[in-house]
Amino acid sequence: MADIRQSAAVTPSEPQPRRIGVLGGTFDPVHIGHLRSALEVAGSLELDELRLTPSARPPHRGTPQVSAVDRLAMVECAVAGIAPLVVDARELQRDKPSYTIDTLELMRAELAADDQLFLLLGWDAFCGLPTWHRWEELLQHCHILVLQRPDADSEPPDALRNLLAARSVSDPLALKGPSGQIAFVWQTPLAVSATQIRQLLASGKSVRFLVPDAVLAYIDAHGLYRASN
Ligand code: ATP
Repeated sequence: MADIRQSAAVTPSEPQPRRIGVLGGTFDPVHIGHLRSALEVAGSLELDELRLTPSARPPHRGTPQVSAVDRLAMVECAVAGIAPLVVDARELQRDKPSYTIDTLELMRAELAADDQLFLLLGWDAFCGLPTWHRWEELLQHCHILVLQRPDADSEPPDALRNLLAARSVSDPLALKGPSGQIAFVWQTPLAVSATQIRQLLASGKSVRFLVPDAVLAYIDAHGLYRASN
């Protein structure tokens, strides 16, 4: 009898394009809202990797309350061993404002031509897109996933209407090619914010269960966000 192992044709499998997500933020500090949302998107979009990318000097908002070193360390504690979440520290290594377009250009240059890059943006951030540096070039490098609440009833600003009409697809899993399209991902965010966590800590209250235990331990060990900081 022929040995089935020898007769089976061996066809080397083509490497599949990778699916990489990017979630930027100040992460001052990272909390369960970020992490739960990131995990859900990574799962539903079948991402190979979701990069949490702390920003250095965000162009659209005030200076973070704690140092880049501390914010990075907390994100690293939070995602350690939680595949496919990873940390990308490149924006903290630049002594310039964190422009998303620069980050995407650098990431794109490191990927294969058919790898897919997905930029995750909340609805509010998406609506503010026309104020971003070189925003019209973003879709040359990535797809955009707009995270939206199922109960939201929001109208996009005029500047984005044409873009949405031309580029949006209804099923995020149907985004084709490495870049260039927009899809909505419907999810209910946990009611937690970094602002709330900073306020609780400043008034001496506990933030247990709002951040992972490892992040809580880091905050406590370094005395972060307490009233004297
Ligand atoms: P702050 O309260 O300081 O404004 P934040 O909690 O909104 O901070 P950021 O670091 O600004 O956190 O957020 C990074 C990204 O995470 C943004 O895209 C933001 O929309 C998203 N995000 C923030 N909070 C939540 C949440 N509870 N659930 C899902 N996504 C969130």
